[in-house]
Amino acid sequence: MIQPVTCPICDKQLPPAASDSPCFPFCSVRCKQIDLSRWLDGKYAVVEDLTPDRLMLELTDPDDLPPE
Ligand SMILES: [Zn+2]
Repeated sequence: MIQPVTCPICDKQLPPAASDSPCFPFCSVRCKQIDLSRWLDGKYAVVEDLTPDRLMLELTDPDDLPPE
């Protein structure tokens, strides 16, 4: 049995031949671009969060500092 493939963006069921489409696994170029822009947004957010200064702050737990 072949599982129906649905577009991850709009949940529209794709025709069996859709795997040959350049926009697979999306139903259309539009949905592919929506996914791409979401992915890029997430990527930029991660890069922004993982600057070295911020990483050091997150790795340093104030409770682990020795008492003065
Ligand atoms: Zn779609």
